[in-house]
Parts: sequence; structure tokens; C-alpha cells
Amino acid sequence: MIFETVIGVEVHAQLRTKSKLFCGCGTTFGLSANSQTCPVCLGLPGSLPVINRAAVEMAVRAGLALNCTITANNQFARKNYFYPDLPKGYQISQYEFPICQHGWIEIADAGGGTRVRIRRAHLEEDAGKNMHGAGTGESRVDLNRAGTPLLEIVTEPDMRSADGVVAYLKGLRDILMYLEVCDGNMEEGSFRCEPNLSLRPVGQKEFGTKVELKNLNSFKYVKDAIDYEVKRQAKVLNEGGKIRQETRLWNIERGETAVMRSKEEAHDYRYFPDPDLVPLKLEREWIEGFTSSLPELPAIRMRRFIEMYALPEYDAGVLTASKGMADYFEGSVKQFNQPKTVSNWVMGELTRELNNSGADISASPVSPERLVSLLQMVDKGAISLKVARDIFPELYSTGKTPEELVQEKGLTQVSDESAIEQMIDEVLGKNPVQVAQFKAGKQQVLGFLVGQVMKASGGKANPGKVNELMKRKLG
Ligand SMILES: [Zn+2]
Repeated sequence: MIFETVIGVEVHAQLRTKSKLFCGCGTTFGLSANSQTCPVCLGLPGSLPVINRAAVEMAVRAGLALNCTITANNQFARKNYFYPDLPKGYQISQYEFPICQHGWIEIADAGGGTRVRIRRAHLEEDAGKNMHGAGTGESRVDLNRAGTPLLEIVTEPDMRSADGVVAYLKGLRDILMYLEVCDGNMEEGSFRCEPNLSLRPVGQKEFGTKVELKNLNSFKYVKDAIDYEVKRQAKVLNEGGKIRQETRLWNIERGETAVMRSKEEAHDYRYFPDPDLVPLKLEREWIEGFTSSLPELPAIRMRRFIEMYALPEYDAGVLTASKGMADYFEGSVKQFNQPKTVSNWVMGELTRELNNSGADISASPVSPERLVSLLQMVDKGAISLKVARDIFPELYSTGKTPEELVQEKGLTQVSDESAIEQMIDEVLGKNPVQVAQFKAGKQQVLGFLVGQVMKASGGKANPGKVNELMKRKLG
């Protein structure tokens, strides 16, 4: 039987606040265990939560960028379950009244259409982290993460393929990073993806039984896990079996999914309004104030790059995929108005060095100013394009200016006519046969002679000048 894959996604995005959602503890990643805790996030009796205004603002800004309706009357709810990393025995979340609802984002290739609908996005606190010591038989818990603010963003089941899901996730992550409400770091868990997936025979309206996938901290794992799960479910169904509603973990080593637990229903959590938190009312004017201050988002910036800089769609897409790269590009073009040249260098040489060193563009040792001075040297004919490309890795690794490097290495391009003429005379003197051939009408010998001059100059002669002077000498 031929099946259609139906996928929805839940993302937990950690909001970039300085303090936690309901207390003043810090949110820095990687500090020593339990160093960022207090009675509130430890769940001690008698402590009371107070909502973090910055987290609410970030959720509203994200909601507006995702074309959501912002809920004016918010209510926090207790989601009850017991797990050692959740010291209160419940998580403070939102249930019936999520802060953002009914939005969408434009994704060119989600597999179902051009839009992915956002069902809801709600605020909730994160849990701590259980650490099971291998061999020692001990388990410990680090509550630094307990109480850090999350925005859980849930889509409608609008995606139809692993590639569509990855396109959505990349688009969503870009938006959150542009808004500076989430750092997007998947390895540190700041952007966690949980696709839920079911199959149905092509043409059938009702959805099949869905399975939720967890432990996917890279786009590659998202794609691999979905591709695996589609095959697994198709096999079960084709053999007459039934899919169980469950949560499955992606096992990286084995390249397969395995059952983690059977799926809970909402009623298992006994949600009820948290009596410790008063309802949160947001005023219309306050919400609308954020609409005008939203930054230019990736899709719009991409269109502007195509129009304003006459860039190919491909370039504009790559350059606007991260805010840092788009800012770098625009910072360079402001000082050197040759957009396509700048684009080539940013996507080529610069990206290669950044990838090799694993650095983010915001920490690039070659600043836009440095790149521009290099490009200006080429533009003025002070160095050749080849020399510029050759020295770029060194420019990146040493932190020297292009001028310093070129001077140190004696790479200045020779454009001085008398110096070039002298080299031409020498080459012509050594190659009388080719000169005679040229004079007899064999035009292609010119290339050979120019090449000899370039070689004699160690690649530093200005090729345009050599060509021009050579023709004059021979003519
Ligand atoms: Zn705390």
C-alpha cells in the first residue's frame, strides 16, 4: 500500500532571558551543578513564583513574528508528574490559555503547502537534569536548568516529509534568532525538536496513530529519524500490524528509533490553574507596541537582498539564513559597493574558514573592514585576485591586516610599465621562434608569451598590463 506521511512538530525554544521564568536565578549554560538555584526553583515549601517580564515580552515578540494572535488573558497551569528533575512534582506551564495561538510561517517547501500553521506557543518552565553515573551506581540531579523559560511552539500536522520538517525547523530557528529571543544552540538544548508522525493510505482523510520522536539535537538526526520511522511504520502497516501511540528515542549509534514510553494523554497530567500565580493580563496597546519594533525577518530580508543588491536568489538565501551573516554582508557592502563580489567572498573564502575553525561569523577574525580593504586592493590593482585568495587563510588565522601581509610577503602587484616592459623584452629575447610565429600570423602564441612574463614575475605582474604592452611591442 502507498502511504502519505503526516508530520507535526513541537519545538522547545529556550528564551534568552538573564534570569529564570519565576525566580531571579541566572540562566548561564554550563556552570557547576546546582550553583544557580534558590528556594523557588528548588521547589521548597512556602516559596512563591513571580513571572519574569522579559520572558513574557520575548514570547509576545515571537508570537507576533509567527503571525499568532496574542492572548490577552493568560493563565498558568500546573502539569502534574513526578520525576526527580522536577522538584515541585509539577511543571508550571500553560494549558487552555497559551500566550500565542493560530499563527503560521511561510515555508517554501514544507511538503504540504507553502505555509506551516502554528497551533499554539506557550510559556513553561524547564526541568533540571538527571545524571546517571556510569559504574558508580549513583544518580544525581542538577537543577540549574530547572525553571529556565521555554516557549513551546506546536504546529498543525502540515508537513509531509523529513525535508519539509527540516525546512520548517530552519525557518523557525532563523526567526527566533533574528528576534534575539533564542540562541538557537541545538547541542546545548536551546532549540529542541520533537516531530510527531503518522502514516495514512493515500486518499484517506483520518489520521493514523502518531508516534513522537525525541533526542534529536541536530537537523541531520531529525531527517534520519523521520526517514527511519516512515519506513518502520510502513512495514508494520503493510504486514497488517498496528502502530502504537508512543514516544520513541533516536539511537544515534544504531541508526534506529526505540520505544521510550507509551504516550500519556493530557488527562494523565491533571492540569489545573496554578493558584500561586495570578492571571496575567496583557494590554492591547502594550502588545501592539512590539509590532512596530519587530526586526526585518529572514524571508523579507532575502527579498530585499535580491531587489536592492541584484543578488541571485541562491546568494540571498544563503546570506540571510543567519542574521550574523546578513549583517556582515551589509556591513561590507556599505563600504565596498560591489554586492556580488562581496557575496562571493562571504559565501566562499570566509565561510570555508569559519567552518574549518568552527567559529560563528559574529566572532570572525576577519572583520567586514578587513575584507573590504582586501577587496579594495584587488580593485585598485595593487594585488591580483589570485594573491588575495591565496593569502585569505592567513589573513583569517593571523589577525594581520591585508596591507601588512602583502607587504611582508612582497606580493604587491607590479603595474609599473617600465618594469613590465623590461620583463617582456627578456621573454621576447629568449623566445625568437614564437615571436616569428606570431608575426607570421599565429595569434595563439600571444597567450604563451604572456604566460612566460607572468611566470617571470612570480605571478605578480598585472596581467591586463602585460597583455596590453605585449601587443604593443609585437604589433
Ligand atoms: Zn531560582
